[in-house]
Amino acid sequence: MNKPLFSFEFFPPQTAEGVEKLAATRKQLALLKPEFFSVTFGAGGSTQDRTLQTIREIKAEGHNAAPHLSCIGSTRENIGTLLHAYKNMGIKRIVALRGDLPSGMGSIGEFQYANELVSFIRAQTGDHFHIEVAAYPEYHPQSKSPRDDLLNFKRKIDAGADSAITQYFFNADSYFYFIDECRKQGITVPIVPGIMPIVKFAQLARFSDACGAEIPRWMRRKLEGYGDDSAAIMAFGLEVMAQLCERLLAGGAPGLHFYTLNQAAPTLAIWQRLGI
Ligand code: FAD
Repeated sequence: MNKPLFSFEFFPPQTAEGVEKLAATRKQLALLKPEFFSVTFGAGGSTQDRTLQTIREIKAEGHNAAPHLSCIGSTRENIGTLLHAYKNMGIKRIVALRGDLPSGMGSIGEFQYANELVSFIRAQTGDHFHIEVAAYPEYHPQSKSPRDDLLNFKRKIDAGADSAITQYFFNADSYFYFIDECRKQGITVPIVPGIMPIVKFAQLARFSDACGAEIPRWMRRKLEGYGDDSAAIMAFGLEVMAQLCERLLAGGAPGLHFYTLNQAAPTLAIWQRLGI
């Protein structure tokens, strides 16, 4: 088996204080020698400049940086300009997404789905970029059916994506079942589980409702039961997530992608528990 690949995701900070805090987080996580750091991108270009700037900083520190690029609400010209800028900066990996239109923003723009963005990147830049796409072991909340979602995932791979990162999930079986289904469809690319450290229950519940990730009932009840006891929430979260990561790696997951929320400690704690 190949060595597992680890990567860490950040969002672009909005304030000078956030920029400083993220630089400190990166310094700690860089010691783990990840394959790359990725930076999210607000659909409709709402974080465009800050994503670019954060990617520039990561690159200047000598790390591999992977910008996310969401296409909804955008134009070919705008996406083309960004691709050109990233190529000139020496960026080699892109996370290509559809994104979600911010409420109140009317127009879908020139791309409707992520497979169109993947095709566009290949048409514009050939094989320059390693393209990552999103995968949903518990299925995308807007998909018509699990089968439709799987076939739509396949479109992205057929359009030229090299690998995928999943939405986070807490049920290892959903991942393993999804992988089996992909292999049956002839999808052979690496599909890396996305890992969400558990830090605050209210925030996690909000994210999970929005993105369709299920918090199993027993976990929800336990987390609710801890109330404001953040130490208990973190200890329980660490236990559950370390076990999930162990199971995923033992079952053949090609690596782990951590949604760090710009904090080093929760990811480091899982890492140390795994003894990687
Ligand atoms: P798509 O693959 O286009 O799928 C969206 C929906 O449309 C699915 O229901 C799918 O089944 C359906 N569909 C797809 N193709 C077709 C087609 N050709 N015809 C009909 N139906 C189709 N969002 C951001 O805004 N910025 C980020 O930086 C960001 N990073 C993310 C990173 C990861 C690893 C993940 C898992 C998600 C990320 N997201 C991000 C969220 C993501 O943009 C949303 O989940 C979005 O709703 C779907 O994006 P997608 O690329 O999966 O879309």
